[in-house]
Amino acid sequence: AILADQIAAGEVIERPASVVKELVENAIDANASKIDVLVEEAGIKTITVIDDGDGIEAGQVTRAFLRHATSKITDRNDLFRVHSLGFRGEALPSIASVADVILKSATAGAEQGKLVHYRGGSLLEESGTDARKGTSITVKDLFFNTPARLKYLKSQQTELAQIVDIINRLALSYPEIAFRLVHNDKAVTSSVGNGNIQQVLAAIYGVQQARKMLAIQAEDADFKVTGYVSLPELTRASRNYISVLINGRYIKNYQLTKALIKGYGSKLMVGRFPMAVLAIEMDPLLVDVNVHPQKQEVRLSKETQLMDLIETAVKERLQTEN
Ligand code: ADP
Ligand code: MG
Repeated sequence: AILADQIAAGEVIERPASVVKELVENAIDANASKIDVLVEEAGIKTITVIDDGDGIEAGQVTRAFLRHATSKITDRNDLFRVHSLGFRGEALPSIASVADVILKSATAGAEQGKLVHYRGGSLLEESGTDARKGTSITVKDLFFNTPARLKYLKSQQTELAQIVDIINRLALSYPEIAFRLVHNDKAVTSSVGNGNIQQVLAAIYGVQQARKMLAIQAEDADFKVTGYVSLPELTRASRNYISVLINGRYIKNYQLTKALIKGYGSKLMVGRFPMAVLAIEMDPLLVDVNVHPQKQEVRLSKETQLMDLIETAVKERLQTEN
């Protein structure tokens, strides 16, 4: 089973930033309102994620480290009925198979919390711990038993940049959650969690930049789109700063991103992309079952209709700004 977990880890856990992403998404799934991420040496030495979410029942903690044991979907149609980011039940077993992991968790009202310690997939310790509601997990010695992976990592600067990127994107996507990222005891990025996207933008990119974001809103019989898009002068060299949420869930969809970019027409320079957060509300049944779980790429019924709605909304908003 350890080998199978390591193989799965090869797919899910590529670098420290993948660990951060999986752990933070778990905290989001657990309804956390505050998520602290503490890393040392760009996460290669340690990654700690502390949340104030629902916690894990003491009797379920070791089960959370069993592959697929926690899978929340039984058929692919469930994907959008469960309102959660995780659904494969692979992250914790994968991480525990290639690192040293200590998890502490307690649910509301529990008399005691539960601590488990795994290293290279083996359970080393299982004990009671304090009953603070929520979960904290510390990941050390990432890839200690898979040297090829370790060798493949880039410079600390590059690895840290990827972590910062993930936290910033999640903070933008979930403005009602307070995020904090600390690297080697120094605060790197944070958000207050009051639901205001512009404040998150200001915290991450500065007040000047946040002013260059425009609120958009559009609606038709099937879709409701709200969000923020940047002025054409506020661009990035990658599409990574475009976040799309469907019914509160962070997804990837190339076509929707394309529609957003198309709304800018010739206002964007070649190789430059806007920053944007789009929150789309729709009937979950319009989400196609054609899904690639690893990539979070989803397809939608009536996709071209939604693309038109997005493109037009962006185009019109940019016109009124001129
Ligand atoms: P998945 O998220 O795909 O279900 P994971 O391996 O990431 O699988 O997590 C396994 C399970 O452990 C989750 O389904 C959840 O029940 C529990 N879990 C993990 N992290 C947390 C957390 N921070 N708070 C509460 N429960 C958690
Ligand atoms: Mg998960």
